[in-house]
Amino acid sequence: MPVRKRASGQTGLMRKNIRFFFEPLQELIFPSSCLECEQRLPCRELPLLCNDCLADISFPCSPCCPCCGMPFSTGQDHFCGLCLKKSFAFDLARAALHYTKPVTSLIGSLKFNGTLTGLASLAYLARNAPGRKDLHEPDLVLPVPLHMQRLRQRKFNQALVIGKACFPDYRSSIRVDILIRHRATAPQTALNGTERRKNLSGAFSLTNPDLVKNKMILLVDDVFTTGSTVNECAKVLRRAGAKRIEVFTVARAI
Ligand SMILES: [Zn+2]
Ligand SMILES: [Zn+2]
Repeated sequence: MPVRKRASGQTGLMRKNIRFFFEPLQELIFPSSCLECEQRLPCRELPLLCNDCLADISFPCSPCCPCCGMPFSTGQDHFCGLCLKKSFAFDLARAALHYTKPVTSLIGSLKFNGTLTGLASLAYLARNAPGRKDLHEPDLVLPVPLHMQRLRQRKFNQALVIGKACFPDYRSSIRVDILIRHRATAPQTALNGTERRKNLSGAFSLTNPDLVKNKMILLVDDVFTTGSTVNECAKVLRRAGAKRIEVFTVARAI
């Protein structure tokens, strides 16, 4: 359709012209600064972090546990104690970044203040992280759900916005109506490993278990600490006959 082609070409050119005009203007009115230390940046390019703060970021990579991704300081890849005991219901867990500064600040401001400014920078780093490459293409992407009560307070689910930003190619596979948190739980942050597991036990369920049967599932969350949250979700999916369950978190506590 030549007319349509010309129209989309014109639209593309218009967009280019608008960007050409607005980007320098935006830079003049809202100069980019580092999201962590507020140092002025030479240009508005992702990630919005200065070289010093960027240098503090580290990526989980080999040597690690081939299953849960637990990093080791030396040696080769080998299964960690938990995975040797088959403690996890998921098949693979990978995190994009270590949960250290400035990643902690970016996630914290997203989760607790609803600040979306850092999301594009986090997603940019996550999309290019080594851990991302171990994941298989999923049939369904399921963000770890919040309980309705928490969702009303926070107004958004951080796992969903992270999923959308980190996996733009899988957007049509993201579903928030399959895995639900039917029981409100206390925040996990102040609890130890055993308390975390007890706190979450039986908190998740599936609206229609048939939808996950024989499916490749990608669970998405913000931070992997002990793995209790994603493991509880994985147990429910495993019981319903999911083919493979992989986990992606934007960060991993070390
Ligand atoms: Zn900085
Ligand atoms: Zn492991």
